[in-house]
Amino acid sequence: MVLTGLKASVGKLVARFGLHTARELFCTSIEAINYVEQVIRDQGIACDFRRCGHIELAYKPSHFAAFAREAEMLQDHFQHPVRLIDKAHLSAEIESDLYHGGLVDEASAGLNPAQYAIGLAQAAERAGARLFERTRVERIERAGAASAGAKGFDVTTSRGTLHAGEVIIATNGYTGQLVPWLQRRIIPIGSYIIATEPVDAGLAQRLNPRRRMMFDSKNFLYYFRLSADNRLIFGGRAGFVPADANTVRESAEVLRRGMLQVYPQLREVAVEYAWGGTLGFTFDLLPHAGTTADGLHYALGCGGHGVALLSYLGACVAQRVAGERIANPLFSLPFPTAPAGLYNGNPWFLPLAGLYYRFLDAIS
Ligand SMILES: Cc1cc2nc3c(=O)[nH]c(=O)nc-3n(C[C@H](O)[C@H](O)[C@H](O)COP(=O)(O)OP(=O)(O)OC[C@H]3O[C@@H](n4cnc5c(N)ncnc54)[C@H](O)[C@@H]3O)c2cc1C
Repeated sequence: MVLTGLKASVGKLVARFGLHTARELFCTSIEAINYVEQVIRDQGIACDFRRCGHIELAYKPSHFAAFAREAEMLQDHFQHPVRLIDKAHLSAEIESDLYHGGLVDEASAGLNPAQYAIGLAQAAERAGARLFERTRVERIERAGAASAGAKGFDVTTSRGTLHAGEVIIATNGYTGQLVPWLQRRIIPIGSYIIATEPVDAGLAQRLNPRRRMMFDSKNFLYYFRLSADNRLIFGGRAGFVPADANTVRESAEVLRRGMLQVYPQLREVAVEYAWGGTLGFTFDLLPHAGTTADGLHYALGCGGHGVALLSYLGACVAQRVAGERIANPLFSLPFPTAPAGLYNGNPWFLPLAGLYYRFLDAIS
């Protein structure tokens, strides 16, 4: 899903940063989608990119009331058109009785992320980049630290050492001990997905007539869409731990139950694939880009919005490395960690946070 907005809602952005910065932050998400669209076009990446729009679905009546406030804010203060759809008219968007209305944003898009990633890798190679898969960076040190005037970094990897004039850290949810300053600022959260067998065209049309990107309004949200070959792809934050074979298997069961809650008509449809990965959250729910005190560049922390935002911020970081000045607030806002050194990269508080957010979902 290539979505407008950041993980934090526009209401929260305005309350925290004021209207001017909130607008700049929201605009970044729009520019990011435009950027992805342009790269895909310029590089001829066949990844089924489509401006199909998204719909956020209200899990509770109170959530729909919040949508109305959000829509007003987006239209009046951000000049960004969105459309509210009440429960009575929701069948034009989704064949499900579960939800209490929706908020449609036509600017969002969808793509096939594996095809996009491969297309980007091929474009980078065409531009002269050399890619080393399955090669872990184990250490980054200032080159010749003792001798004055030495430039760049010595980068030790699982397959050898290389010298780099500049280093960009792009490890997002997988940020480890390599750069402890960044590790203390990124919270890894597991997210999981199932994909059904392809369904017939008639059923696909009823499940999601406009083939939109869909997600609901819970903190423990479900997100779902149709693939190009009419599978229902259904994801959610079913577990807080990084994905392994067991968590993927367990999450697949939880997600199948969730999918049937939304679409009971899929009871006889087989789930053919399940997978998971790690999202990179930050303490202020914003992505951050910049340069560490050690001179390492970074762009990380999109909380599930990184397909567009980290593509775009990656390009901004590259421009900065090439000497351009980047005015985006995501480069200048403070990048918070937990107070009093309470977080060193081991997210011990996630089960507590999980209980808190489940409680909020229950009472909202
Ligand atoms: C299940 C799931 C669903 C998602 N759905 C969406 C969605 O619909 N829309 C959206 O916008 N985003 C979504 N995301 C988030 C999105 O995948 C990320 O924001 C995006 O992939 C970030 O791109 P990236 O290149 O910055 O980092 P990543 O794609 O996470 O890549 C980071 C890479 O760094 C590597 N790495 C880490 N440490 C080292 C090291 N020491 N040495 C070498 N390499 C290292 C890792 O192996 C990894 O390959 C989803 C994520 C998951 C897990």
